[in-house]
Amino acid sequence: MPLHDMHAFVLRSFTLKEADKICVLLTREAGQVRGVAKGARRLRSRFGASLEPFTEVQITYYQNESKELVALSSCEIVQSNFAAGISSERLGVIHYLTELLIEFTPAHEPNERVYRLVTATVETLKVADDAQLVALTRYFEVWLLKLAGFLADMKSCGDCSRAFTESETIWLDNEGQPHCRTCCDGAGDALVAVTRQTLQAMLKQAPQNFLTTNPDAVALQSLGGITIRLIHRALERAPKSYELLTRLRPVATN
Ligand SMILES: [Zn+2]
Repeated sequence: MPLHDMHAFVLRSFTLKEADKICVLLTREAGQVRGVAKGARRLRSRFGASLEPFTEVQITYYQNESKELVALSSCEIVQSNFAAGISSERLGVIHYLTELLIEFTPAHEPNERVYRLVTATVETLKVADDAQLVALTRYFEVWLLKLAGFLADMKSCGDCSRAFTESETIWLDNEGQPHCRTCCDGAGDALVAVTRQTLQAMLKQAPQNFLTTNPDAVALQSLGGITIRLIHRALERAPKSYELLTRLRPVATN
């Protein structure tokens, strides 16, 4: 069995039987990895006392090709990120974002861009204040949907192929395809110009820069309605931790 050694973000960890721990991890080299740490609770120093979501760890594991679970031989905390004194808003966001990653990242399929999104989001989450969490959550949803292939290109109408002007309202159908006023048949989610601009700003900028643009509160709310519908459609259910987000303070209207 080959030995693997790599950096990872913890997405979830839970106790299995008496002393073993299951860790769901996101790695750059191997995508999502599920590992079992035997005797993790007895061997605290070897596996770290606490493996909260988004904790950065260095792992070594053996992979038996026939098993879905890899055998973790070590899991050392590199950066604990959000363990102590964290607000319930932030905790809700962390649980929600890590749940989306568990659902949207396939096992053992590396995705460099998703890994970079997570790295940038975690860095931003450390410095963002609670009032910026809604904007950061929308940013992450938009990018994860895009990288997973669930967010259509919004540049032209899905029916007549006409390129949209910057100022026009467009409509998204149930499948997330954009349509112009003529082709939408009066149905779908309307994206007004400011919402489209906010979406484009997300797609052009790193999260930390996007937050400094003081995104429009109504546009974020409108995007939130669209992203959750696309997520719901992709997963065929609502994410379990979505309700935790209702604890978020709304963005103050400018
Ligand atoms: Zn059209």
